[in-house]
Amino acid sequence: MRARCKRLGVDLFFDSRREKQALEICAPCPVRTECLAKALDERTQHGVFGGATALWRKRLLTRRPDVTSWYALLVKARVVHRHQQPEAE
Ligand code: SF4
Repeated sequence: MRARCKRLGVDLFFDSRREKQALEICAPCPVRTECLAKALDERTQHGVFGGATALWRKRLLTRRPDVTSWYALLVKARVVHRHQQPEAE
């Protein structure tokens, strides 16, 4: 429901000539972490998901074959990151 691409056609996210545009849409998306985790967990081989190109995801999967749940890893990393943010002045 909160996905920034909700009302956009999917073609944009599968058109390599428009990858930059798709990445710009993903960048501030509130469900980016979940979207990226799903694409990684499902080994989605095409398209831009979660602010990552298919090539970038392939490299990540190759580098980390030990990860069984990207969802668990990325959500945990987001929580840890949030707790490490400096206090607002
Ligand atoms: S991060 Fe995922 S849900 Fe959000 S705009 Fe990109 S493709 Fe759509």
